[in-house]
Amino acid sequence: MKSRQKTLLQKGKNVEEVLNELQELKKLDLDWKKGRAFSMVYYLGEAEIELMSQAYKMFMSENALNPGAFKSLKKMEKDLVYTVASLLGDPDILKGSFTSGGTESILLAVKSARDYALKKNPRIVPEMIIPLSAHPAFDKAGHYFGIKVIHAPLNENYQLDISALEQLVNSNTILLVGSAPSYPHGIIDPIQELSEFAIRKDIWLHVDACVGGMVLPFMEMLGYYVPAFDFRLEGVCSMSIDLHKYGYVSKGASIILYKNKELKRNQYFVYGGWNGGLYGSTGILGTRSGGNIAAAWALMNHIGLDGYKNIVKTVVDTAQKLIYEVKQIPELQVIGNPISTVFAFTSDKIDIYELADELAEKGWLLDRQQTPPSLHLTVNYIHKDYVQDFIQDLKTAVQKAKQFKLSHLTNSFVKNVTKTAVKILPEKMMSKITENITKLASGNGLPQKTAPMYGMIAQLHNTKDIEQMILEILENMDD
Ligand SMILES: *Cc1c(COP(=O)(O)O)cnc(C)c1O
Repeated sequence: MKSRQKTLLQKGKNVEEVLNELQELKKLDLDWKKGRAFSMVYYLGEAEIELMSQAYKMFMSENALNPGAFKSLKKMEKDLVYTVASLLGDPDILKGSFTSGGTESILLAVKSARDYALKKNPRIVPEMIIPLSAHPAFDKAGHYFGIKVIHAPLNENYQLDISALEQLVNSNTILLVGSAPSYPHGIIDPIQELSEFAIRKDIWLHVDACVGGMVLPFMEMLGYYVPAFDFRLEGVCSMSIDLHKYGYVSKGASIILYKNKELKRNQYFVYGGWNGGLYGSTGILGTRSGGNIAAAWALMNHIGLDGYKNIVKTVVDTAQKLIYEVKQIPELQVIGNPISTVFAFTSDKIDIYELADELAEKGWLLDRQQTPPSLHLTVNYIHKDYVQDFIQDLKTAVQKAKQFKLSHLTNSFVKNVTKTAVKILPEKMMSKITENITKLASGNGLPQKTAPMYGMIAQLHNTKDIEQMILEILENMDD
């Protein structure tokens, strides 16, 4: 038997030392408090963070697995579900749960739709149809729960193409999905048409409002144009709404809602045969920290309706200002017609990933996207102070990117794969790959830094290879 490695310190460090080390570790991270990140973090300010940490601290050890033991958490969860439901439909009929995030909300919706369909007809082999722009959490759900995932194409406005979708439905279809809006382009799918079609075919419709659930209702109240997207449409059976995005709650907070109690019942898991007694859980998790629930409850009660309306007005106006400015730059094109807080732009003149590299040098983090190659911005409250800074740097970066020539690479295959697939990987992964490959490759006339990377990319023939590569990177992430 191998001897056990001693990694836990024999004698622990004192409190001050541990906290100092954490401060040091923080320096490795992106400076999101200065509005540099157009993804990952949603930030109102220090006072709100302080409130949430106090609330979190009060309930972090309490366990929401057993709401009978912690009636406080039960009440807070009920309040949160009711509050969010009241934004999207009739809160006295809608039912739902607090979950750990958009992914858990989506996994639960897919599982519920599957079990609901299987109860009606146990012989089906479940399939679901999602737009190409739907979040990969649905593909993950398909993978976890053994459901075939069919991707429906988008129309010229980057919305789900309804007529294409209609061709894909068959007797095994258990679920249709639309986003309000989509993460990649910030575009709202035609939910009304989807709803009518879902009713006609008697198929469960989920609306993924992870991004829009805490934005669109307030926009509507403020008088902005918002197409119908929620439970006021008859066909909508479930919705996912993230609180840890535009609710500005700390990470680990989302809501899943169902049209009624009967649909929600499919979400639960119960097991009666365990030695430890009867077991039941509402969601994917077993033990759930009360901290996240309390933090969400504290922040949402603190901000209130007027607060969220003000925030949404500020953020939508900021996003629309950014969209306007990007449209003034002749090399760039905004994708579709995004009306809320998320958008993406592409270019027919410059290499958009090169532009991302140039922006990264100035400290800006934007997601790199594919088909079409584009850069992505989730605009949040903190960005209100940085529109001019960003646009100025963007204009400079466009000029620099114009000078970048892929043509010095002779191999057009390498060029294409590089352009369309690999540069979408976050820098961290890229440098990891480069690092690994540098060990293997020798000089072949290409520039020092990029040569090994391009050399390796040329070996990759399809997305399966790239997926395999990403898998290996994930596996080795903690090495
Ligand atoms: C973020 C997001 C998700 C997934 O949510 P997580 O909180 O990251 O698990 C799903 N759908 C959309 C539209 C999203 O923006």
